[in-house]
Amino acid sequence: MSRRMLVSGLVLAVVAVLGFSAVPARAGEGDPWAAVVGPGFVRYIPGVDRWELGFKVVGDGWEQSIGGALTGLRVLVNGSPVQTVSWVDAPWGKVDGRLSQASVREVRQAALDELHGRAPSPVDLPHLERAALILEEVLAEVPPIVLTLQGMAGLAEGEYTLDVSLDFQVGARSLTLSEPLDVVVAAIPTAPGWFAGDYHMHSTYSDGTKSLITLTYDLGNAGYYIGYVTDHAASLISSGAFTSMTAAYPEACRTCSSTSTSMFPGVEIEIGHTVLGIWNGDGHCLGYGVASTSGLNDKYWGPQAGLDQINANNGTQSNSGIAHPAHPIYNWEDWTVLRYYGIELMSGPQTYFDVYAGHPSRWRSECARLQASSSSYKPSVRTGSDCHSTWQSYVTHVKLASDSIWFASDWAGRRALVDAALKAGKTTISRKGSLPYITADGYEVGSTYTKASGAAVSFTIYLKPAVTGTYNLYLYRDNLASTVWSKTSQALTAGTAYTWTTSYTYPGSNHYYWLYVSGADYGYTTPIYLRQ
Ligand SMILES: [Zn+2]
Repeated sequence: MSRRMLVSGLVLAVVAVLGFSAVPARAGEGDPWAAVVGPGFVRYIPGVDRWELGFKVVGDGWEQSIGGALTGLRVLVNGSPVQTVSWVDAPWGKVDGRLSQASVREVRQAALDELHGRAPSPVDLPHLERAALILEEVLAEVPPIVLTLQGMAGLAEGEYTLDVSLDFQVGARSLTLSEPLDVVVAAIPTAPGWFAGDYHMHSTYSDGTKSLITLTYDLGNAGYYIGYVTDHAASLISSGAFTSMTAAYPEACRTCSSTSTSMFPGVEIEIGHTVLGIWNGDGHCLGYGVASTSGLNDKYWGPQAGLDQINANNGTQSNSGIAHPAHPIYNWEDWTVLRYYGIELMSGPQTYFDVYAGHPSRWRSECARLQASSSSYKPSVRTGSDCHSTWQSYVTHVKLASDSIWFASDWAGRRALVDAALKAGKTTISRKGSLPYITADGYEVGSTYTKASGAAVSFTIYLKPAVTGTYNLYLYRDNLASTVWSKTSQALTAGTAYTWTTSYTYPGSNHYYWLYVSGADYGYTTPIYLRQ
């Protein structure tokens, strides 16, 4: 097994082009500069020959409409060149004064540090995250430069460092931008009853660039069992593709599916309100287990009404979630809603994953706000690539009754099992694929049960890491109110199951308990709720 080489003194992916006479800076905007932003981390199962990697370039201060032509590139895997690389070029994102080169440099360095287990300090995180949201907004404005690497099937299971250098020609000037990338070649960690999925993606049924067949192929190559496609309701409604479970969209999902990777039809709807006849968007919600797009109009419902429409769409199976609560543009605005089942803590091109970062912070406060309703509705942890053309490595693991029930069920049955797990909050998530979970007195994540004050609670803490490295684990009570148990600086090996137990005296009243993992990977579990 080849080990990932530690990237010491990371090459900063930001290049200033000083004294550049051929393409002078515009007055008052300083020297032209450009930076490349890569995915940081990707995962393939062993034997995948073709790797597709997306990179975006942003820059500012260039005179003409910005955009260098990509003229060449080099990719090294653990120092050895990859022979067959092809690419599709794309325009550069124009920062247009929204961020300085120094801030982009700072945000990217902190992101790469976090990727390697060194989180920003809580003091630095707020300003880093503000700048990261602006950078994410710029990145969202351009498609990725897509690199296709071939001949990768021979790589053994393990962790690799890729060094990617992109050569550009801008006018008379050439410049090279570099970016490191970690790749793990391995299956997603699993345990009995746990199934890995991506719960937010877009296909050609709305504004995604990939067909359902391609999405299924990509998910299979990354080791996911479950792909919940969440195309935009407006597109599905206007095309009539999801008028019933026998319409084109669910049928296409069913046709693509196998027990290795199953695609399920979901929906994303924009909720909001109107002021003087003008629509104001208040965020996006996701619908799982729905039987059609009937009543799921886009840009029509208010926040709770939209969630309720999803919840009521298909008997006891349909269930709603909140997408990207702290998105730079499509953030969720109404934090008085009561009836929903999940919330994304990792979504789209997110920069930070720390417990103090935007999405996890919102989730923590939602857990506190909604704790009384935990036996029916709860903000269970979710992730989603929000894939329109490129993937993220995030994994939502759902717990089913057993492995065999998945393999014994037909497509509709497998979807029903997943929907039931989502509604029950039997979820745990990670950035790179690690599987963290806890039980309390044998109760699983998402459970609510009664306990006498002063009685002993027996917690089991479990982690199967996706990557080898140093991990920190914290079993928290409520919204960081206290640390019930922790293990820091644990050197753990990818693919190995680790278990710890602790006995805890229940203090009475109502509380909830959840596991947070940081370091080589980030992970969160849905809480277990205790009532006196
Ligand atoms: Zn989406």
